[in-house]
Amino acid sequence: MNSLEKDVKNFMEGKYNMSDFNSYQRSAAKTAVYDDAYKVIYPTMGLVGEAGEVANKVKKVLRDKDGVFTAEDRDAIAKEIGDVLWYCAALATDLELTLGYIASQNELKLSKRKANGTIGGSGDDR
Ligand SMILES: [Mg+2]
Repeated sequence: MNSLEKDVKNFMEGKYNMSDFNSYQRSAAKTAVYDDAYKVIYPTMGLVGEAGEVANKVKKVLRDKDGVFTAEDRDAIAKEIGDVLWYCAALATDLELTLGYIASQNELKLSKRKANGTIGGSGDDR
């Protein structure tokens, strides 16, 4: 079992911790080199750009490979998701938020929606 398979297995077994997000965020902050004058806006623009890179890679698999993802496709998309994650971490840092808090709040929101049968539909406060 390789490291990815082990990590996916742990994830599926519920062996993860929201504090892992904060560890990642602290690490990511060490590689944030943009000027303080561009706080918030720089990671926001980067996040949108990297999300577009994810979408473009997925689009090309749909267009060229009938939606069948190869290991190379998955690796390439994983790198772009990593870029998205880095910009999420940087944005959270600039807004004095933690990824652990954000993840916990999101998990709580979605759990309530599932319990209420409102996963589908629209509106932030359903
Ligand atoms: Mg990228």
